[in-house]
Amino acid sequence: MPRPEDPRGFPKRNRSPALRVLLLNPPSHSVVVRDYLCSKTSKSGYLFHPIDLVLLSGSLASEHDVHVLDAVAEDLDADQAHARIEALAPEVVVSLVGSVSWPEDRAFLAEQARRGRRVVATGDVLHEASEERLREEPWIEAAPHAFANDDLLRYLGGEREELEDMTLRDAQGTPRHLRVGARHKRRGEYRVPRPRHELFPTHGYRFPFARSQRFATLLTDFGCPYPCTFCVIGTLGYRTRPVADVLEEIDHLRAAGTRELFVMDQTFGVQRERALELCAALEQRGDLSWTTFTRPDTATDELLGAMRRAGCHTLILGIESADDALLARYKKGYDTNVTRAAVGRAQAAGMAVVGTFVIGLPEESEASLEASLAFALELELDFLSLNMAVPRFGTPFRAELLGLGLVDPTELVMDQGGASAFLPTRTLDRDAMLALKRKLVRRFYLRPSWILRRLRRVSSWSELANHASQGWALLRANLGPR
Ligand code: SF4
Repeated sequence: MPRPEDPRGFPKRNRSPALRVLLLNPPSHSVVVRDYLCSKTSKSGYLFHPIDLVLLSGSLASEHDVHVLDAVAEDLDADQAHARIEALAPEVVVSLVGSVSWPEDRAFLAEQARRGRRVVATGDVLHEASEERLREEPWIEAAPHAFANDDLLRYLGGEREELEDMTLRDAQGTPRHLRVGARHKRRGEYRVPRPRHELFPTHGYRFPFARSQRFATLLTDFGCPYPCTFCVIGTLGYRTRPVADVLEEIDHLRAAGTRELFVMDQTFGVQRERALELCAALEQRGDLSWTTFTRPDTATDELLGAMRRAGCHTLILGIESADDALLARYKKGYDTNVTRAAVGRAQAAGMAVVGTFVIGLPEESEASLEASLAFALELELDFLSLNMAVPRFGTPFRAELLGLGLVDPTELVMDQGGASAFLPTRTLDRDAMLALKRKLVRRFYLRPSWILRRLRRVSSWSELANHASQGWALLRANLGPR
């Protein structure tokens, strides 16, 4: 007998009773971002909605009684978070975990398991050698490795075979990683029921580029088709959501009064026609403003014009380095001339440009850092984001360093947010790397010309307050050499 379907065509299983499920971002001593198989300390105190939980909220709420507790957004300590969970009394806790906060996460969640909860965990630290991790951590019942599918929904419904990418325990408790095909080859469309943004806290999320304090975080695709070797997203394949599903989600947000979006696609516009269709639909609505990521070689005049008309005010561009040899070595697929032209096009289209750089790769030196700063100044970037190179789980970069014996496979705690340096470079030890990174941040942001330009471009009191608080947090984190 065919399964009944909801109006948008998602099959209902109804094979087992609904569970009370808690989607959890666990407490942390500092503001950390754990999402999309990455984790880091927040550079300026920013915190957007954890996109894994956002997507899972739609899928799981189609069959279960779903609640959300974001202990980072609500600034809860461990005791407060435990008390909130006791009051909710979920049967299953689906929690983010992160390499950046792994000791805290495992202590907190082991205590939840001790209190009788089923604990499902997902995050970067479980993305590689997951069977080994589950053997070490008996409190983890299962670990999904992707969130843009229905693996977890099917697992909670009792299915134990043919899951796309999940580590679970067999009847004897032995961990088994089920995976269909190679991750990087996954292509095509994916569908998830409308994410339940309304379940997330209304306060506590902060995004430096948002023009309104009230914003939503969403995803219109999953993964990235490019092969940059230090990035985990490029190892996940590339899938898109139907534009109609994305618009349903956005219209629901609009009906609830949200007008500002963080579109978390890692390379917006990979599929040109689809991106233009989405932009045309947003332009027609005419009441949204948003920020997204793309690559310099994707940012054509046609795409940027369509994005601007659709309300995109800030573009986050992966610039990575001022060194063309380094860009080639890590398979970025473009050089600094391409970046120079793309930044010019985005500025001409009227967008603010955030340049992200990866620093601290083994080839990094004081001279290459100086060159990166000079490039950022030449491009007149509106914002500079320096990400510390780390051997992220599941990346070719990590595999290379492991092969060379430069990374200890048992060292699971790392942070690309810049609060610490994980790797020494060939010419800089960790302390020197960190001190230079802090100096670069100060030299970029403490320029009177930059401050004046930002003030001239601020469009609301809310944006000004946002800049002031996050700018202060960024500077505080980067004052002094250590
Ligand atoms: S383009 Fe960006 S998201 Fe895609 S693989 Fe490269 S660094 Fe990762």
